[in-house]
Amino acid sequence: MQEVILVRYGEIILKGLNRPIFEQKLIKNIKIVLRNERYKIWRSQARIYIEPFDENEELNTSRLIEKLLKVFGIVSVSPALKVESNMDAIFQAAEKCMQRMHGLKTFKVESKRGDKSFPLTSPEISRDVGANILSKFKDLTVDVNSPDSVINVEVREYSYVYSEVIQAYGGMPTGTNGKAMLLVSGGIDSPAAGWMIAKRGVELEAVHFFSPPYTGPKAREKVVDLCKILSSYAGKLKLHIVPFTEIQVELRDKCPEEQLTILMRRFMMRISERIARESGCSALITGENLGQVASQTMQSLVASDSVVNMPVFRPLIGMDKNEIIALARKIDTYETSILPYEDCCTIFLPRRPETKPRLEKLELSEGHTDIERLISQAIQNTEIVEIV
Ligand code: ATP
Ligand code: MG
Repeated sequence: MQEVILVRYGEIILKGLNRPIFEQKLIKNIKIVLRNERYKIWRSQARIYIEPFDENEELNTSRLIEKLLKVFGIVSVSPALKVESNMDAIFQAAEKCMQRMHGLKTFKVESKRGDKSFPLTSPEISRDVGANILSKFKDLTVDVNSPDSVINVEVREYSYVYSEVIQAYGGMPTGTNGKAMLLVSGGIDSPAAGWMIAKRGVELEAVHFFSPPYTGPKAREKVVDLCKILSSYAGKLKLHIVPFTEIQVELRDKCPEEQLTILMRRFMMRISERIARESGCSALITGENLGQVASQTMQSLVASDSVVNMPVFRPLIGMDKNEIIALARKIDTYETSILPYEDCCTIFLPRRPETKPRLEKLELSEGHTDIERLISQAIQNTEIVEIV
């Protein structure tokens, strides 16, 4: 009897001819998160199996499962017992499975016979395994409608017995859907937005604007930490750290105060698009959310979109703040995001920011600055941090 892990993937089954590409990518991504572990991996009939590297070794199933749950494309995993496909071995595995659970009163058995040469049908397997459990555990009864636990038996070349199905995030394997550039601040929203898009199979790069000496090294470190959390799901990523102070000072000195926030955002978008193109990204991602603040009114979003020629993904657009916070907690970025360090957006804040900016007026103000020089200088002084 061997402890193994069954890995289920759902959505990628739908992909017809692309399916092998998706499966290969998923396996590759699994190998990346399990790079320091000893195990064997193989795939058969829309299922991935993770087994001990050789017969007399054991898997650390809980540690491996914790890592697997972060791989996009996986729908669920089950720790399972693998035995020879005969009823005695299956009985033993089912008993062991039962022994591990405490406080149960009711159960049922569900079986799937993948190997049609097996002498019993699925209902017969369930019936016999159930009867065997009843004979060994006197306090238990069968409840087919709402049992405390379901013992699953799958008979294939070998047989697998398990009771636990742990849900993962689903989505698509990272790297199957192109690459996008996340504008990441130290806030709650942008890391959550990056996660949502990464979940759809998109590889990430990130750009962060910082304003020394107004923003300190702690704020920078926080963004690096947030990117590390993202990379634990989406694989390694490049973080471009762009100095933004000069642009902010110039805007403050030359443009109307109420426009500062939106003008700043337009510079961020322009610079991000350039870096995105150079890095082979096809879209930008922001954590913007309709109506949340002055810079996120419909008109403000239009004003920031109008300076770029690339799709801007805003996956949080229709979410409420409490939904975003719940997401940030789930993906483990929340505690880092709420650390109290200054972001470049919080310096030179206008007292009464424009909420309905008109494009002609913004362009007029920007005409007072040397847009091209500001952008190329910022890009020249950009630092790249490789996050693994
Ligand atoms: P967040 O929680 O992501 O900071 P927010 O609700 O505070 O979002 P804003 O500060 O208006 O909203 O920023 C809107 C979006 O602009 C952010 O979600 C992020 O994508 C981008 N952004 C803001 N500040 C920066 C920055 N310093 N560097 C890179 N991108 C930024
Ligand atoms: Mg912010």
